[in-house]
Amino acid sequence: MTGRCDTHCHLYLEEFSDDLPEVLKRAKEAGIVKILVPGIDVDTSVQALELSREHPGWLYAAVGIHPNYANQVSLAQIEAVEALLKANTGNIKAIGEIGLDYYRTWASHEDQVFIFQHMLDLAAKYELPVCIHIREAEQDVLEILAKWVKSLARNNNSLRLHPGVLHSYSGHPEIAQFALQHHFLLGISGTITFKNAQGLRAQVGKAGIEHLITETDSPYLAPHPNRGKRNEPAFVQYVVEEISNTLGISLDTAIQITYRNAQELFDWNGN
Ligand SMILES: [Zn+2]
Repeated sequence: MTGRCDTHCHLYLEEFSDDLPEVLKRAKEAGIVKILVPGIDVDTSVQALELSREHPGWLYAAVGIHPNYANQVSLAQIEAVEALLKANTGNIKAIGEIGLDYYRTWASHEDQVFIFQHMLDLAAKYELPVCIHIREAEQDVLEILAKWVKSLARNNNSLRLHPGVLHSYSGHPEIAQFALQHHFLLGISGTITFKNAQGLRAQVGKAGIEHLITETDSPYLAPHPNRGKRNEPAFVQYVVEEISNTLGISLDTAIQITYRNAQELFDWNGN
């Protein structure tokens, strides 16, 4: 079953507390066949997992601690994330959302790197791909990931072929270069539809459809023509449409190949 995928949305946030059933209904009507919900801390990772259990085969979870929530995280919280992984029966398809965010200073760089490293270790141990958040921290993230993929190769870890996704790709040429070199995918969000996103569209055109998956990052980053409103998974249709326009390929081809890319990364057809 191929179709549109939203590989990154935060459906447990309060923005959806009033109308999540309607949001999901609209997603279904818009042909969204797979949705990945990443956590941002322990509690929301549990909530993402609960959502995936309520909607088996449609919603999936990623678990992890986001850099903005890395402030004084205890080892007990890292163990709590690992406990979810130990008990994983197939609903958890990735470790995320993890990474570094030097734009917000909610957590020190040291705390962020400490958590990021621990999350990458868990990903390697449980052989689950990573969903990476990068904001004003390109150099440090790419350096850490480069070391990580080297260790995956050294240990013959199955992740080396599909290590993860660099989510909500910003258009930085070095990020795309890194992704292509190390088999990461670029997660394309609604920002690709923005008028002033020529640079991003140029990079996406260069990267090519084989390296892209689609996402919304709901409730943030609503695409044109809904820019500024609350985002929701149904709006991923505008993202895949813009990808097809940017690459000059048919909408069907864009849907099919981005679906296949996501399937290879998250391995979610099995259950
Ligand atoms: Zn996110």
